Amino acid sequence: MDLLAASGLVKSFGGIKAVDNAEITVAPGSITGLIGPNGAGKTTLFNLLSNFIRPDKGRVIFDGEPIQELQSHKIAQQGMVRTFQVARTLSRLSVMENMLLAAQSQIGENFWQVQLQPYLIKKQERQLQQQAMLLLESVGLAHMAYEYAGALSGGQRKLLEMARALMTKPKLILLDEPAAGVNPTLINQICDRIQTWNREGMTFLIIEHNMDVIMSLCDRVWVLAEGRNLAVGTPSEIQNNPEVLTAYLGQ
Ligand code: ATP
Repeated sequence: MDLLAASGLVKSFGGIKAVDNAEITVAPGSITGLIGPNGAGKTTLFNLLSNFIRPDKGRVIFDGEPIQELQSHKIAQQGMVRTFQVARTLSRLSVMENMLLAAQSQIGENFWQVQLQPYLIKKQERQLQQQAMLLLESVGLAHMAYEYAGALSGGQRKLLEMARALMTKPKLILLDEPAAGVNPTLINQICDRIQTWNREGMTFLIIEHNMDVIMSLCDRVWVLAEGRNLAVGTPSEIQNNPEVLTAYLGQ
């Protein structure tokens, strides 16, 4: 059974059909890619899957349950978390505080409205801090744990956002352009981390324009163009698909 299966998704903004009857599936344990030319509807599809925006139509099944009626933070609690094209870290909090806030979202608060609450600090602090530190070590950010997140580079913020997503031990992580605006050394580090986490059992759905990243990481790739499904297949099938090449060249 697929971990994620969405079908018939439609979203219009005014006259523009950003997503037009799109489907996508993600197998458990996979690294699945989502590619397409600029404006193809990829981020909108992510927003629909995670219910950051509500679809006009369509159905999303996650881990066997329909989730299209659930609020985003409930979806996160069920085990589907996401990152953003521009990493949404809280720059005036420390790197560690960013990590701990993610853990609090797991226990039922809306991520963007929470304060660090005393009972959480007392009850779980040591354990959560250890978990956070291990994750920060894994992305090479442990030495920055008590610096402001605002002091991180764009690439480091992406690593922090990914590590933060892992704090809730999710089943599926949606990554929106993890390599965009990141220097090549950090891109390699990000790819290594994704592969390691995948070997440890994490499933990924990744939007990415960097084809080297998609080709080296993904088991399966979905292609979207003008809001519609254009193709799905292995990276090499997609690379050699004439319709896909035309869609990209036509940009
Ligand atoms: P890119 O690769 O450039 O990030 P994308 O494939 O992620 O593009 P989307 O950002 O999903 O594409 O945009 C799809 C279409 O929907 C575009 O025409 C975009 O202008 C439009 N769109 C997306 N969000 C909104 C919005 N909130 N209001 C109006 N139009 C929107």
